[in-house]
Amino acid sequence: MDINHVMRKQLVQGIDYRSGKAVNLIIDNGIIENIRPGKTGGSADIPYIAPGLIDFQVNGYMGMDFNNKTLNPELVKKTTEDLWKTGITKYFPTVITNSADQISYSLSVINKACSASSDVERSIGGIHLEGPFISSVEGPRGAHNANFVTAPDWTQFKKWQKISGNRIKIITMSPEWHQALDFIKKCVKNGVNVSIGHTSATPQQIKDAVSVGARMSTHLGNGAHLMLPRHPNYIWEQLAQDDLWTTVISDGFHLPDSVLKVMYRAKSGKMILISDCTKFAGMPAGPYHSEIGGNVILSESGRLYMAEKPELLAGSAVSLMFCVNHMLNAGICSLPQVWDMASVLPAHFIEPDSIYGLQKGSVADIVLFRLIDKKIEILKTIKNGRIVYENPELINSDI
Ligand SMILES: [Zn+2]
Repeated sequence: MDINHVMRKQLVQGIDYRSGKAVNLIIDNGIIENIRPGKTGGSADIPYIAPGLIDFQVNGYMGMDFNNKTLNPELVKKTTEDLWKTGITKYFPTVITNSADQISYSLSVINKACSASSDVERSIGGIHLEGPFISSVEGPRGAHNANFVTAPDWTQFKKWQKISGNRIKIITMSPEWHQALDFIKKCVKNGVNVSIGHTSATPQQIKDAVSVGARMSTHLGNGAHLMLPRHPNYIWEQLAQDDLWTTVISDGFHLPDSVLKVMYRAKSGKMILISDCTKFAGMPAGPYHSEIGGNVILSESGRLYMAEKPELLAGSAVSLMFCVNHMLNAGICSLPQVWDMASVLPAHFIEPDSIYGLQKGSVADIVLFRLIDKKIEILKTIKNGRIVYENPELINSDI
């Protein structure tokens, strides 16, 4: 059934993830029409209720890669459905540095998938183009292919934006290029959010980029030199720029908890959790071959590393839910604060005036979950008022 079909009013009960109190949500036609206090003194079986998760950086999932020649609209739809199972109600397929033709191909397929299915269209908040206008320097460039890294080129970007159906909403680029400021200004004018990432820019270049409208840092602390001057450097500068939001990969492998804590303190209210997951996310543990990294190993714990150099990560292989769980267990902030960093805050970054979350007038993108020994387990995902995932354990329960 498609989301567009007529839906009747429905009631969803749960424990508000912010207050810890029971609430009843009345959903009408995909929108939260009202929220009322629920029955108190409820049983332990009542699940938590929270807004759906939003992931700004999804390169792939369960074997599907947005940057691959085999991508097709059906795979995009299947990935959308797979992500619903992890509590995600909106995500940003991430197209990375590649040949101009491959980037065009990925963008056109994602656009087709959105045009073909309203489920997909409503679940894709926009496309994140990460590259190719990033640093060519080893370290900051990360795993991006050096052959395709290039200076910011507005004419090329406009072509890609047209092919994408105007769906590119975030571009990760480096302000170290002399063309960067002009390019950022044009992005801002055209409603594209500029995020600084994979950069070896000087602090002054970062400041200049922010002054013309760059709004975010991409996975701050990763895609960086292994060794940096203690200060000044591009990480301090981005932390200090109050107008910059930041995304972080809080999977427990990409950043130590101490760094997550300091970044949270510096960016509170503007820190967004991402998975940056590759096609290995959602796959069983074991050895794999990666087009970028060669032979890689996915451990039982979710760490993806190079087979020959186990100390080197080969990307991310966990869901945003896993990152939320790690951040919660790191003990840096409370459940509502952690959850908002992966739901309400990304929604507000993209649409500052929008209503999103457990409040009247918000789209009914909702997750029901339980928390056992500080481990979050998704029980139900509701997208635009429709149940799109139910944990198989729940089939005969009344949750
Ligand atoms: Zn990256």
